[in-house]
Amino acid sequence: MKLSLLTGAAVLIIVGFSVLSGTMLLEMRQETWAHDVQSSRNLLAAEADDIARTIAIYDLALRSTSSALDDPALMAADQHLQQMGLFDHSITAAYQGALRVIDGDGDVIHDAATLAPLPASPAEREALLRHRDHDAMGIAIGRPIGLGTAGGGDITLSRRLDTADGRFAGIVTGTIQVAYFADLFRRLKLGPHDVVSLFRDDGTMLAHYPDTTHVGQSVAGSNIMRQFELKRSGTYTGRSVFDGTRRVYSFTHLGGWPLVLDVGLSENDVYAPWRQRAWLVTLCLLTMGVISLCLLLTLRSELSRRLAAENNARESETRYRLLADNSSDMIIRFDRQLRRTYVSPSCRKHGYEPADLLGKTPQSWIHPDDWLEFQSTTKSAQRELRNTHTNYRILHKDGHYIWLEGRYSYVAGDGGFIAVLRDVSRRKEAELKLKLAVEELGRLAAIDSLTEVANRRTFDTRLAEEWKRAYRAESEIAILIIDVDLFKTYNDQYGHQAGDAVLKAVALALQDSVHRPGDFVARYGGEEFVVIIPNTDLFGAIEVGETVRRAVLNLQIQHDANPMHVVTISVGAASAFPRLNLASAEEMFTAADGALYSAKSAGRNRVKAQIATSSIASR
Ligand code: GH3
Ligand code: MG
Ligand code: MG
Repeated sequence: MKLSLLTGAAVLIIVGFSVLSGTMLLEMRQETWAHDVQSSRNLLAAEADDIARTIAIYDLALRSTSSALDDPALMAADQHLQQMGLFDHSITAAYQGALRVIDGDGDVIHDAATLAPLPASPAEREALLRHRDHDAMGIAIGRPIGLGTAGGGDITLSRRLDTADGRFAGIVTGTIQVAYFADLFRRLKLGPHDVVSLFRDDGTMLAHYPDTTHVGQSVAGSNIMRQFELKRSGTYTGRSVFDGTRRVYSFTHLGGWPLVLDVGLSENDVYAPWRQRAWLVTLCLLTMGVISLCLLLTLRSELSRRLAAENNARESETRYRLLADNSSDMIIRFDRQLRRTYVSPSCRKHGYEPADLLGKTPQSWIHPDDWLEFQSTTKSAQRELRNTHTNYRILHKDGHYIWLEGRYSYVAGDGGFIAVLRDVSRRKEAELKLKLAVEELGRLAAIDSLTEVANRRTFDTRLAEEWKRAYRAESEIAILIIDVDLFKTYNDQYGHQAGDAVLKAVALALQDSVHRPGDFVARYGGEEFVVIIPNTDLFGAIEVGETVRRAVLNLQIQHDANPMHVVTISVGAASAFPRLNLASAEEMFTAADGALYSAKSAGRNRVKAQIATSSIASR
């Protein structure tokens, strides 16, 4: 809609300009025409006056000769006097030719130039006939003769002579040189295609500028002739019957004379300056049009690009708004100060309305333990202009906390974030359960299920650790290997279950008997237990051995097959000094095992000790 309006307006402006310029040019053309018509008229008027005056002077000469002929005294005088009297008033103009009197029979009876005149010329004879046949003709003008001769040709002017009783008595004639007109017209300084013509009122051309090619020819019956017949003077535009050039013609009949003067200015020349201006204006207009068109096209494409971009933006905003509004994750737009500027409706899951959260920072709803980390994470992301993610707990409206996983996309434009917050409470719960399960599993893998003291695997690990520690600390380490006496017979007599109970009781007694932080009790397998006693020499080990032996004896669990009648244990003790490298952990164990064997051999229910010896040292 906008585009078509713009195009319409531009086209209207261009068309408007064109029409305006066209009208202006037309007006200018008319003005040019009017101006030139006026100049041709002015020329015409001046010329017409000049010619009319000249003809009048010639006519005066003819009339004075004519009236002198009526003077009987003069006619009675001798030939010289007659000559003087007849042509006394005649003019001696520059272009004057002969002035003669011809009688009714065509004989030349007087000649201003000579007493022995030549016979009448064809033109004079033609004039004689015309006057004889038309008695009220006044002055008659003949067709030009002798054109192209040395004299340049003449035009004969004549008047009729009558007798006293009104009969035809001949004519008086005068000639005017065609050169008169040629010189007159030349002085006008016309353009190369302009013309001036003098016509007789019957359409015969008497004189023409710039050439004489068509002089003597007639325009009778032509369009020009009709114009001459219609008006005394006027202006018309038309094509020349002679050379086909279009001209603006102005014509006028000359006073009382049977003559028409016609000035024609070439239309081509008249309009030349106008045409030049018209071309210039048209060129300007065209240039303007092309520039406007280019501008319009550029504007159009720019506008349509913008419209498309706007549409796109609107569509994508709608699309993303739709996405955000319908996302099960919570989407929040934060500004630089971490104030919320948009909150998606999925916040209702946590008991809030978007309006409750808008314009505030999340401090009040993030768990106090998580707030500092949240703050430092987002601040450093802002400082480094990058995205970040962080997990934290938020307060549900009804008071409990929910774990959220937050992905914060940095928005370069305003230094804020678009955050996608996902409820990961269930996952967190599952993770916690898994952690507990793994811990429990680890614990279970480390203890003996029956006695709930550490198992053999844990013992192996612990022994290696304690050995290293003793090595580093340059201290001694001791172990006890404990074996329940005659346990097979106990099982046989009291049953396996009772045997298990004994093992539990023994384990408990062992555990209760060692109190130092590093002391460690494990079930080695079957009815055998081990105790690691760090920072202890062999004497100390024997002491602990005695303590545990007594503890089991003191349990007073009946065992008939045992010489003591209660359950007893035998203990083998050994110690080592790892830093001195006298023995390895295995050698210490072997030594303890050997001591246990000795205790068994010596009658059971006793502690025996043995110093660990290095196989390397003994070699
Ligand atoms: P000695 O005094 O020489 O050690 O005699 P003993 O009978 O204890 O020795 P022996 O190694 O021959 O027997 C060990 C017995 O311990 C065999 C088995 O019946 C019993 N025993 C091993 N593990 C368990 C257990 O987990 N539960 C029960 N109830 N008895 C076990
Ligand atoms: Mg045994
Ligand atoms: Mg035993």
